[in-house]
Amino acid sequence: MNNLQSLRGMVDLLPAQTMSWQFIESFARKHFRKASLEEIRTPILESTELFARGIGEGTDVVGKEMYTFLDRGDRSCTLRPEGTASVVRSILQSGLINQGPQRLWYNGPMFRYERPQAGRQRQFHQLGIELFGFDSVQSDVEVIAIGWDFLKGLGLKDLTLELNSLGTNEDRKNFRTRFVSWLEDRIAFLDKDSQDRLTTNPLRILDTKNEETKKLLLDAPCLQNSLCTKSRERFEDIQATLKFLEIPFKINNELVRGLDYYSHTAFEITSDNLGSQATVCGGGRYDGLVSELGGPETPAIGWAIGMERLILLIEKELNLVNSTPDIYLINKGNQAGEYALFLSRALRQSDISVEIDHTDSAFSKQFKRAYRSGANWAIVLGDNEIVEQRFTLKSIKEKSDSNSKSPLFLFSQIEKLITYLNERT
Ligand code: ATP
Ligand code: MG
Repeated sequence: MNNLQSLRGMVDLLPAQTMSWQFIESFARKHFRKASLEEIRTPILESTELFARGIGEGTDVVGKEMYTFLDRGDRSCTLRPEGTASVVRSILQSGLINQGPQRLWYNGPMFRYERPQAGRQRQFHQLGIELFGFDSVQSDVEVIAIGWDFLKGLGLKDLTLELNSLGTNEDRKNFRTRFVSWLEDRIAFLDKDSQDRLTTNPLRILDTKNEETKKLLLDAPCLQNSLCTKSRERFEDIQATLKFLEIPFKINNELVRGLDYYSHTAFEITSDNLGSQATVCGGGRYDGLVSELGGPETPAIGWAIGMERLILLIEKELNLVNSTPDIYLINKGNQAGEYALFLSRALRQSDISVEIDHTDSAFSKQFKRAYRSGANWAIVLGDNEIVEQRFTLKSIKEKSDSNSKSPLFLFSQIEKLITYLNERT
């Protein structure tokens, strides 16, 4: 039998990688708490209808990329391809939607059947925020600022905020008519994908990655010219507010986002260091979605960051240290082994991390492993120590590194421990 392999596009995170993930996740939690956002966790599996309605049949995500199957009760289920539709379903189902504006964040795996490459997987992870119940220009800018400051706070450089406005539903309908008739006259010059989109989701053609089509589109009617006065003023206010906050941005009129429910503000944060998968954060306003899914008219705006792309950037720039134990517990002999277990629990209760050597091999071999573990200290327990009721604490590193516990802390904790052990015997 062949060795079992993970499915294509499904990636393991090994201990060497989980350090960076934990670092970002804990940074995100703190960042979101400061922004007064609360966490929401929704199921990974949802009814297919949620995404068909919430994302739109004409999109790549729904049309080509979903993991959809019938469960044993013949219900059509889909592994979530993104977080927003599920969050909306959840706040409608739980009634949170009726409890005033909501400020939420989520983090978790998403699934899309795409061609895997650097920064593009079939199971990937998104970290996202959603605000419900606000329609002000300031709420758009706050959402953008939370994302921008998050990435900047992680120390990332070479980021660009790209901005566009999709206007109202009405604006887009007007534009679609003009755009489609312009394209129909040139249909022979479009790539195959764009020809298909002409009937399913023409706005998505603006998002094309085909170079020839891109060139052709340079002369196409522009969405900006279809915006009504109110939409245009709103877009100008967004820009003025970003300038006031000194957040740099670039207008990108081709930026339409892949999903159907967006309106007004659409934005992406891209990095020069990601190659062709350059977008690390994508978001925008989606005032139509809550009502589309059966709820009351509710303005909403949010973004999602692709964790894998963020990790690619972070790993180049951050030097994270793997977790090392404070103490490596060397022990030999049955009694010493038992005592080592006892001691490890007491030390861990005192907030000291401990790795026990379970090999019962020669002391010299255990010492070698102790050095390799990266611990600053070793405790040595042998038969002599048991008979004499003592243990040896040995410094095993020339210079302790900055992220290890200070000797003073360690000694005071061990002193307490010894007092406790003495009282116990
Ligand atoms: P792209 O144009 O790169 O396919 P998208 O418009 O499909 O992006 P969104 O649905 O807006 O992406 O998702 C937000 C973010 O999630 C993206 O900017 C990206 O960082 C990340 N992302 C999307 N799809 C994948 C994937 N298959 N693998 C890894 N990350 C992804
Ligand atoms: Mg995509």
